[in-house]
Amino acid sequence: MPFLKEMIREAVSSREGVWTYDEIKEYIRNKWPDQDTNPGSIDAQIEASCVNLPTRTNYPENKKEINTLRDEYDFLFWIGRGKVELYNPSKHGKWGIAFVGGKYRIYKEPKPVLEYDTPMKDYSIIYETDPTWLENIKNLKPDIVNFWSTRETNLRTKPSNFFFKALDQTIAGYATLKEVKPMTAGKAWVEFGERNGVNSEEEFLRKLDANRNDIIKAFILENPIFFENPPKSADCGIPTEYVTMEYLDEWQTKIIWSQVKEFEPIDQSKPEINSDVSGEVDRLSVVESRPYQYNLRRKLIEIYDGKCAICGIDIQEILRASHIIRHSENKKTAKRLDNAILLCSLHDSLFDKGLITITHNNGTYGIEISGKLRESRSNAAKELCENLAKAKFREPTRNPPSDESLRHHNSKIFKK
Ligand SMILES: [Zn+2]
Repeated sequence: MPFLKEMIREAVSSREGVWTYDEIKEYIRNKWPDQDTNPGSIDAQIEASCVNLPTRTNYPENKKEINTLRDEYDFLFWIGRGKVELYNPSKHGKWGIAFVGGKYRIYKEPKPVLEYDTPMKDYSIIYETDPTWLENIKNLKPDIVNFWSTRETNLRTKPSNFFFKALDQTIAGYATLKEVKPMTAGKAWVEFGERNGVNSEEEFLRKLDANRNDIIKAFILENPIFFENPPKSADCGIPTEYVTMEYLDEWQTKIIWSQVKEFEPIDQSKPEINSDVSGEVDRLSVVESRPYQYNLRRKLIEIYDGKCAICGIDIQEILRASHIIRHSENKKTAKRLDNAILLCSLHDSLFDKGLITITHNNGTYGIEISGKLRESRSNAAKELCENLAKAKFREPTRNPPSDESLRHHNSKIFKK
């Protein structure tokens, strides 16, 4: 008699496509009628074998760091609503298990890079979102919106990222959670109007099933952003289909960000990481003070492997998101990952002042030094030039600087 996982594997391999848990059980019952297989055990074995189910790490065989998936244990991909298919790395991406913050966690490549030793709890929130609300807010594009709920929701903390979980099991977008407060439905209409995601007060009250004087919970959100290609929950390792609201930690949040294809809106400021932060409360306040938790700098740290693209220094405190075309010159490119480079404070300043530039010709990157910098006579400046002459541009793992931005810097900002 084969092991349960072998039975499951054989079932799912017997034909292509999607399998429900029930179909797998039926296959096993038919194929091995004499076996007394417990349906609960089959569920558990399916769960343990899905590379993208966070709960798989509750099983002994998955309590270990895994970089290269094992044929024997990692052969299913969870696609939502009690369905799985045979795991195919080229289709589903590479998944692994890491030991983070005292426990085993799944991740999808690229492996998230955390700012703290342990993944911060309550980093984000994901909330089931009414499709009409989503559509209305998408069209209205307001700076501030009311994501109302009639449900008794008491947040234990106030994470700033507020993800919109859409009914189609994708993550439609996100906003920054500013405040949660009770108010009457009437006041919410007066204060937010169509920014309640409805077209009239009548519709509002009908959706709420409330009167003007009834108290509702207002989640006041800033800068809602909708993803052009909303990532699937399953691709983010977030099986949220049965819950209305869920807290996500930093690790889970970063997996979502890594699955968002287009460029993220960014915080123009260069937030400093407070390395002295110790307690949970302090950490949360650090995060809350930022307009966006996930900003350009963090994404750059990820793709440049936490190192200055010129000298390779890896001291996070001095790494900056260096814009190629300045924000003041072009607001549009400022939001793009391929218009920025991760540089240490020294190389950021030199780049920003046009004393160095980065060229890209025939697929090769070069670092050019301005005449002005070469003329400088101090030994320190000479040494700097010598090091720059030897330095090689460290290419990011993805979204390399765009040629358009580099050409602009070469011709408009660089002081030959
Ligand atoms: Zn540097």
